[in-house]
Amino acid sequence: MVLKRTLATIQVDLDGLWTNLSYYGHDVSISPDILFETAVPRYLELFREFGIKATFFVIGRDTADPLKRELLKRIYDEEHELANHTYSHPFGLRKCSLEQKKKEILEGEKALLMITGRKPVGFKAPGYDIDTEVLQILHGSGYRYDSSYISTFVYPIIMRLNTWFKGGVLRTHGPRWHWFLKKNKPYVVASNRRGKLLEIPCTVMPLLRIPIHATFIVKLGFFYFKIAHSLVRLLKIPLNYEFHAADLADEIHDPRLGHLIGIPLEKRLQLFRRMLQELTKHHTFVTSAEFALRLRN
Ligand SMILES: [Zn+2]
Repeated sequence: MVLKRTLATIQVDLDGLWTNLSYYGHDVSISPDILFETAVPRYLELFREFGIKATFFVIGRDTADPLKRELLKRIYDEEHELANHTYSHPFGLRKCSLEQKKKEILEGEKALLMITGRKPVGFKAPGYDIDTEVLQILHGSGYRYDSSYISTFVYPIIMRLNTWFKGGVLRTHGPRWHWFLKKNKPYVVASNRRGKLLEIPCTVMPLLRIPIHATFIVKLGFFYFKIAHSLVRLLKIPLNYEFHAADLADEIHDPRLGHLIGIPLEKRLQLFRRMLQELTKHHTFVTSAEFALRLRN
């Protein structure tokens, strides 16, 4: 029997070591970066193996490092998309001034232009910290989509616990409690004669609104993924599945990074292969730019 595959997209957030450490208030250099450097080749290999075209969200500042630049070129050469994840990954973009917001977006854009020769069409705010002002800047600058929303009540709880017990930055940013009432599928957030800006939220478990992206599956296992994916298929939700660099990086035992410690790489690789096998049985994966284009039409 031939299965009819539905359209879906995979996004990889390239938050490296310095980005993760900055969340806990540590200021370190952009290189060496064990998370970025070990994860990118593994994602490329996996996506090649499963015939997936994906979107990688890049922090502009990382392009100053020659090794990272080389890896980003490899991503682009393999026909994946590079999209804008701001220039310096500020936690609390929503709280920045209008000028700072514009600068973060524009500088991130310029950094990507140096790699691809093209202006990016997609944006993701650090830590799911988005507001209408940022969406207006994106729309005015001709972006096709934003992917900063996640419609769950779980993140506000986790972030608060992180602040209390692990010293994460004070929770004045990130997803809001009421976002779990927002749509769990792509929708138009801004539209005029010049074009539409689509919001492609990070897909969460339908009905229960619990996160299902890779970082959670690593902790909760394949069975949890299977239930979530069955619901996504049943309700015909156009899937946006999210990974982070840390999900496929070398094992790292840095006590400053509490949430990244624990699962052996071999186990994670096995789990992701199983997930991608399941996902590619039911979906055709295109870049988020392509996904946005097809959904808007
Ligand atoms: Zn990020």
